[in-house]
Amino acid sequence: MTSVEAVVAVTLSSSDAVDTHAAEEFACPQCLQIVSDPFSANCAGCHMFCRPCGESLLDGNLPCPSCREGFTHLGHPPAQVTKLLETMRWHCVHRDTGCSFIGRRKELTNHLRMECKKQIVTCNFPECGVKLKREELGIHKNSCRYRPVLCDFCRKSISFAAEEKHLEDCVGYPVECPNMCGEKPARGKMDHHLARECLEALVRCPVETCGVLMLPRKELEGHVTDPEATSEHISWMLKELGRLGEERDILSKEVEELRSDLDTRLVEKRNMQTEMLRLRDEEQKRTADVDSAHREAEMRIQRLEKANEELREQLQREREKDARTVIVRFSDFEARSLVAKGGEEMESTDFDFQGSRFFLRLQPDAPFTQMPLSSSSSSATTESQEAQPENLKFASLFLCRRDDYRQDLRFSVTVVRGETEKHFRWKNPRSRASWGELCFCLKEELMEAARRTEGKFLELRVRMSADGNLWS
Ligand SMILES: [Zn+2]
Ligand SMILES: [Zn+2]
Ligand SMILES: [Zn+2]
Ligand SMILES: [Zn+2]
Ligand SMILES: [Zn+2]
Ligand SMILES: [Zn+2]
Ligand SMILES: [Zn+2]
Repeated sequence: MTSVEAVVAVTLSSSDAVDTHAAEEFACPQCLQIVSDPFSANCAGCHMFCRPCGESLLDGNLPCPSCREGFTHLGHPPAQVTKLLETMRWHCVHRDTGCSFIGRRKELTNHLRMECKKQIVTCNFPECGVKLKREELGIHKNSCRYRPVLCDFCRKSISFAAEEKHLEDCVGYPVECPNMCGEKPARGKMDHHLARECLEALVRCPVETCGVLMLPRKELEGHVTDPEATSEHISWMLKELGRLGEERDILSKEVEELRSDLDTRLVEKRNMQTEMLRLRDEEQKRTADVDSAHREAEMRIQRLEKANEELREQLQREREKDARTVIVRFSDFEARSLVAKGGEEMESTDFDFQGSRFFLRLQPDAPFTQMPLSSSSSSATTESQEAQPENLKFASLFLCRRDDYRQDLRFSVTVVRGETEKHFRWKNPRSRASWGELCFCLKEELMEAARRTEGKFLELRVRMSADGNLWS
């Protein structure tokens, strides 16, 4: 906790300002202090008052002390005026006693509250309340009568001024034994000392029937074992011995019980170890079983994979049995296609596939042509045959069946010594007598391919394979 004087409001006059001339505008004409919560009156000079001053003049119907004019209203000044007041810079109010701080009003308030060495503060030790400059507070606190100190005897925190009074009833403070035994027990332990320890304290002889009732504790032992003592003391001592013997018996019985309990636990521990060993053996055996099951499963998987591989190979062989490649030849192709001008078709000789007969139908001069690239039409093909040049004409090609073939068919046709290779899938051949393409390739490609052979024949490679689906 810091010792501070709460500064509610800083009281400033225009002479505290860095710019004293500007500050005069903000001096209340009534109390001459700088206004903190300014109110402006509607007097001739529109003077600014602090609120209490302005209100008391208004209530008393008194004129403005500056311009001697009466006024009827107090209001908040314009925001720029308030702003100007906030940003104005001030010397510390303790400039006269040596503080050189300069800052805005808000900063000055903080400065005085927290740090100004010349500001008057109060010592905050309870009961002190001394007021002094902040710079003097440190030295004062070290010697303040009300500073807290620890009691040497009971370790409680007390004020320095109250120490003497405290020692009068401090429970840790050593005091003389009232029996003058020479001991000085702590005040709080005196009862214990007198009842159990003090050799001068009067105690009763434990032998109830003894004539001596009270004697100092230091004489008790001698009194009880005195050879001159009465028979009462002897029988008391015998009884006492008997009692001690019983106590010893009880103790040794307890020790015996503890020992047998320990034995039982040792046996239990040994049993537990045996059980753990058995469990570990069992676990190892089970692991071995799992391993062999695992190996067996792996072998079964290998056998299955091998069988699967064999099946796949068999399937491949079956499929190849269902596939066939034939070379189909159209002899004297160029001459025949010149004759075929006008759309006539050529048919190949028959060939077998899966017991059925097939043949190719070729139309070198099909009624479709490729549009010239410069055409503005978006269509790729057109029927306007006559208008197109010879080298853009298409040939059509179809695979045809002679018999009732019923299985789906895949086939490809390749122009030998040419470029074109096309793949077809003929689904449900019973529904169509032929399958192929009207624009199979350019007629020119076929002519070129035929010209490359000695006998001017055209060769097409047809590869056929059954596709599995039967149509009945
Ligand atoms: Zn005022
Ligand atoms: Zn005025
Ligand atoms: Zn200061
Ligand atoms: Zn103090
Ligand atoms: Zn104490
Ligand atoms: Zn004593
Ligand atoms: Zn006695």
